[in-house]
Amino acid sequence: MALLTVSNLSKNYEGNPAVRQVSFSFHPGTCTALIGPNGAGKTTILRTLAGLLKPSKGEISFSGMEKNQDIREHIGYLPQYPSFHGWMTGKEFLVHAGRLARLTKKEAEQRADDLLHKVGIAEAKDKSISKYSGGMKQRLGIAQAIIHKPKLLMLDEPVSSLDPLGRREVLTLMEELKQEMAILFSTHILSDAEEVSDRLLLLKDGVLVEDGTMTELRQKYQTSRISMQIE
Ligand code: ATP
Repeated sequence: MALLTVSNLSKNYEGNPAVRQVSFSFHPGTCTALIGPNGAGKTTILRTLAGLLKPSKGEISFSGMEKNQDIREHIGYLPQYPSFHGWMTGKEFLVHAGRLARLTKKEAEQRADDLLHKVGIAEAKDKSISKYSGGMKQRLGIAQAIIHKPKLLMLDEPVSSLDPLGRREVLTLMEELKQEMAILFSTHILSDAEEVSDRLLLLKDGVLVEDGTMTELRQKYQTSRISMQIE
C-alpha cells in the first residue's frame, strides 16, 4: 500500500504556475529523488507536501492518517537553508526540538542522545553549533527533522552545498535511514540521486516528465541524455 499519494497537484504563485498536475505515489522503505534544474518546482512540491504551502489544486493523501490529523505528524522536513541557533550546543538544539514536538524533558534528552549517536555527532554534542562543519550541521538538521519519528523524511537539496566529505557523510546517513523510513529528497545532481535513490522523479518547468528507477531511465535514455534532461 502506498505511503503517500499525490494526485494532480498544482501550485500557482499569484497566478503563475510553479507545479502543474503532478501525480505520483510511493511506498514505505523507499528512497526517491526529485530531480530537476533550478526553478523546476522541487522546493514547491516538498513545501506543499510538508503542509507549509496550500496546493492550488489536487490532493495529497497519507496512508493511516486519521481525520483532522496534521500531516506534519507523519512527515519530517529539512529545508534547503535550515536555520540553527548557532549559540546552542547540538544537544541543546535537539532537546529544544524534542520539547517542541511535545516530548517530556526526560524523553527529549533521551531522544536527543539517541539521535546524536545515530547521525554521528555525539562527540560534538556539547560544542556550539556555530563550530560545526556544513556536513555536521546538515546531520543535526536531519536529526531535528526526525525527532518525532516520522514515516517520511523529506530533504531539500541535502548535499548540494557540502564539500565532498560532508556530502559523503550525509549520503551514508541517508542510506542508513532509508531502512527505517521513506525518504524523498530533491537534487539537481544526477550522481547524488543515483547513489542513494531507488527511483527518480524528473521535474521540468513544474511538470513531472519521468518517473522510474535508474535502470528503467537508463534503458530509455543513455546516462548522458538523462543528464541533459536534468540540465
Ligand atoms: P531551486 O533548486 O532553484 O530552489 P526548485 O526546483 O526548487 O528550484 P522552486 O523553488 O519550487 O523550484 O520554484 C519553482 C518556480 O516557482 C520558480 O519559477 C520560482 O521562481 C517560483 N517561485 C518559488 N517560490 C515563489 C514564491 N514564494 N513566490 C513567487 N514565485 C515563486
